[in-house]
Order: sequence, then structure tokens, then C-alpha cells
Amino acid sequence: MIGLADCNNFFVSCERALNPSLEGRAVVVLSNNDGCAVARSNEAKRLGVKMGQPAFQLRTLIESGQLIALSGNHLLYREISLRIHEILRHFAPSAIDYSVDEAFLDMSGIPDSALPDIGAEIVRECREKEGIPVTVGFAGTKTLCKIATETGKKRDTRVVVLSDQQEIDRILSVMPIGDLWGIGRRLTKRLYSLGVFTIGDFASRPLMWVRSRLGVNGEKSWREIHGENCIELDFKKRKLQDSISESRTFPIDIDDFDYIRARVAIYCAHVSKRLRIQGGECGKVTVFLRSNRFHTENGYEAPDGSIDFEKRVSDEPTITNAAITILTHIFRPGAFYKRAGVILSDITPARCNEPGLFEDKRQTENREKTGRLMKVIDTLNPRVGGHVVKLASQLTIGHLGHNDGYSSSFGAPLADGDSSF
Ligand SMILES: [Mg+2]
Repeated sequence: MIGLADCNNFFVSCERALNPSLEGRAVVVLSNNDGCAVARSNEAKRLGVKMGQPAFQLRTLIESGQLIALSGNHLLYREISLRIHEILRHFAPSAIDYSVDEAFLDMSGIPDSALPDIGAEIVRECREKEGIPVTVGFAGTKTLCKIATETGKKRDTRVVVLSDQQEIDRILSVMPIGDLWGIGRRLTKRLYSLGVFTIGDFASRPLMWVRSRLGVNGEKSWREIHGENCIELDFKKRKLQDSISESRTFPIDIDDFDYIRARVAIYCAHVSKRLRIQGGECGKVTVFLRSNRFHTENGYEAPDGSIDFEKRVSDEPTITNAAITILTHIFRPGAFYKRAGVILSDITPARCNEPGLFEDKRQTENREKTGRLMKVIDTLNPRVGGHVVKLASQLTIGHLGHNDGYSSSFGAPLADGDSSF
């Protein structure tokens, strides 16, 4: 059997995890530049808000207080997504992160009778640790898993196991063809015109009929519905991101080295944490600066620099120190900068803190100490940007302080215990 864990209304659920007062309210998350709704709570769906609906059409609902619209906070969503995927890995011999809010789980070797309990445990852990509601479907193929989670969401059941053929047939006979994985709006219309309205209608057509009208992908869907695995996703390799980066535009153009250094240190904290959550180590860190294209009196400047690590690292102090060394080299006094960023690359799976080939005793002690330190920091800082402790290099004194969006979007809920060392 294969499992599929799918987070419900993921972006909205992330916002609710951070701000529980949104629970039970109609909430949408808007796309970049607040253009349209990209995630909706069930309450918002019931109000009739459509996926992708432009924000201006929702103004009346928002102004009357019936609907809450939030700007997307994608750093937060990515962070929670990585943590959810990390939880899911504990429940399956192997897993594929299929999208930001879905993962397929390879359950081979696990008896069907254990699946309802495993599913319930996944749901409980994602809820308790991350505050995210998840629906889990188990079935013989990935397409049937999709149908299982879809069914669960409609019935408000969190775990659905599809193993009984009669039950599968019953579900297929009422599920609209548009809900079939991989069937877009155009194909749905075409199938309607061919008299196919439910997935059951589709399944009951002969394979030759499907092949001649929908080609090889249609055939694959048909076979999957009939229990034959033919959509291949690589279960073996756990995919790591090639690079992890973070960059931000400053609220004003700035020539203050200490300010930029503090920003770069904060980006390092975020990217190194994302690296550790993925279970990766990086071989290279890059820092870049950008001046304002539209203030050309000094010419446009876009310096960058990199450091290759002798031994791959994932800890915040080493990455931050390297990034600040780079910054010191590329920063030109007198220049005004508008943006800075940090990129980690050359990423491979972490090798359990193994010693370097030519490491001396002092280096071993330092490495072990840093490993322990990062564990403590990660435990104390449960979410990215929600700082309980931070490196002194992230601190800045002066005019801009914390007013560029970071503390307001992430730090605030956890700011009580703000301290540093
Ligand atoms: Mg989802």
C-alpha cells in the first residue's frame, strides 16, 4: 500500500498555527502583491470564495468583517512544510515530498490492518507538534491515494483506507471526473462532452477507448484507478534542495555596515535552520549586495562573494562567520545598498557529524560543541524567525532596529523571551 498525507488548506492552517484566533473564521491567504486568493479556509469556501478569485471581488466581504484576508508569508509556510515532511518520514520506510503540503509514503511491508492506527498517529502528531490538520489516505496506487484523501476531506474523516473494491467502486461512481488527479479543466470539459461525468464513468470505459482519446497519460490514470501502479515517483532518494537562499529589500537604501551585517546574520540563521531541518550540509555560502538601480549617481553595484568550506557544515555560527567575512570584503563604505542576500549551495545529506580526515583534538571538541549548541538553539527556537535565542551578530543598534518586517511577521508571537548571547 501507498499513503498520501495532505495538509488541509495548508497556507490558512499555517496562519492559524501562528494565530489561533483565526480558528473558526473565514480566512483567505492572498497571492504575491495581494492579487488573488490562493488558500481558503472551509468557512471561506462556504462563503463562496473561489480559488484564484481576485482580491477586489472580495472587498465587500472583507470590509464587512465576514472574511479575513492575509498576505502570504511564504517563509513560514516553507518552514512548516519542511517540519511536516520531517514528521511524516518517521512513519514510513520511505517518503516523497510531492508538494509543499503533500507527501507520498511507501508503506510496503506494513500490514493493512496497521494502517488506520498509523494514519491516526500521523494526524495527531502533525496537529500537536505543528498545529496543522492533515488528511491521510492509503490505497494501492497513488491515484487511488489522491481519491482517498479527497474522500476524507469531503467526509471530514482524517484517515481513509481504500482496500475494499466495493467501497472503491461506490466512491468512484459519485466522484466528479474533474477531481481525478491530473485531469485539468479543459480535459474535464472534453470528457463531459464524451458522456464521462464521474470517475466511475471513466473507469468503466474500455482501455482502448481511453487510450485512443486521452493518450498515454489517460491510460496511466485508468490503470491506476484499476489498481495498477504506473505513475513513478522516486521513492529511493530523498531530494534535497540544490540551494537555500534568503534575501530581502531594505525599507530604505542604507550605507550602515552594522545594519547590513545584522540582516545578513539573520538570513544565515534562517537558511542554516532550513538546511538542518532538511538534514543537509552545505559546502558553500554566498553573500550578495544590490544597490538601487534607480539611484544611478554612484552607478549600480551588485557585488557578491563566496566561501567554500573545507568540510561541509550546517551550523549557524560557522555559516554566519563565513557570511560576515564575505560581507566585509564586498561592502564598499559610502555605497548605499537596497538589498542583501545569503545563498547556501553544494548541499548534500548530513553525515551524522563524522570527523574530518585530518581533524585534531581541538577541532573535534569544537565540532561536537557546535553540534550540541545548534541542538539547543533549534529546541529553543521552535519556528524560523521566532527567536528565543540568537547570535549576537544578529543584533543591531540604531535607527532601523526591528522595523523591516521580520519581527512583525515572525518574531512578535514569541518575542517575550527575547534574549541573546
Ligand atoms: Mg492540501
